[in-house]
Amino acid sequence: MTEIEMLQLSPSRISDYQQCPALYKYRAIDKLPERPGLDALRGSLVHLIIEKLFTLPAAKRDFETAVSLSSDCWSELLAAEPELVCALDSSITFPLEDKVVIGQDRLDVLFAEVKVLVANYYSLEDPTKIEPHSTEELIEFDLSPVLKIKGYVDRIDKSPQGWIRINDYKTGKSPNKQFQEKAMFQLKFYALVIYKKSQELPKMLRLLYMKDSQVLALEPNMKDIEMTLQKVESVAAQIFSSKATSTWPTQVSKLCDYCYFKPICPEFQKN
Ligand code: SF4
Repeated sequence: MTEIEMLQLSPSRISDYQQCPALYKYRAIDKLPERPGLDALRGSLVHLIIEKLFTLPAAKRDFETAVSLSSDCWSELLAAEPELVCALDSSITFPLEDKVVIGQDRLDVLFAEVKVLVANYYSLEDPTKIEPHSTEELIEFDLSPVLKIKGYVDRIDKSPQGWIRINDYKTGKSPNKQFQEKAMFQLKFYALVIYKKSQELPKMLRLLYMKDSQVLALEPNMKDIEMTLQKVESVAAQIFSSKATSTWPTQVSKLCDYCYFKPICPEFQKN
């Protein structure tokens, strides 16, 4: 009997499969490398700055200190992932062949963009008044012997009464009404993992959008948890079926224009 490999699902992998099973295969099964994009780079930098900020004593978490962390955080990201320079200069070949040094002018532009996003973050909340329970915490739960649900949560807060608040930072702009439900799925997924682990239902889910200084918030209920579980199990069943039959259909949509794999996608090789 062949042993079924454990399927590990995060919100982004679920979103990939729902967008296009072929995209999921390129990323999760084939693990093809992807050139880093500028939006993702800005996002990683801002996330690391806020993470570092919360390691400081509350009184020291002012805006100037946050901005001053930019350069060190950039160096840390680059040491972990040298390919990130490709996001700053389209003429650099990917994957990297040699070490590349990015000019200070280009870095100054990046740090100026990050400064605006960090300023908008301070318009959404005051980090000197928050004591997080955890930052960048890996949460995971085995729903079955073959299905693990997991994700990294940007920040979890706990009130003195023990209420849990899940926070996720977004460096893009907030979605319009039509896409808010889809955006909130990520946090409902985290709420599901926490509920399964601890039997505690988080009190509040918050998405903090730094581009337009908006917060999307939801008080989840048990119906949200049940519906999220159903969705996770349904997508997991589809992925198991795709794996068993080696069937990964393409699903063409407007999002194909942003898909890194478009040049190798069979849909776009046709005459
Ligand atoms: S280009 Fe479109 S159809 Fe092709 S893999 Fe990407 S998302 Fe799927």
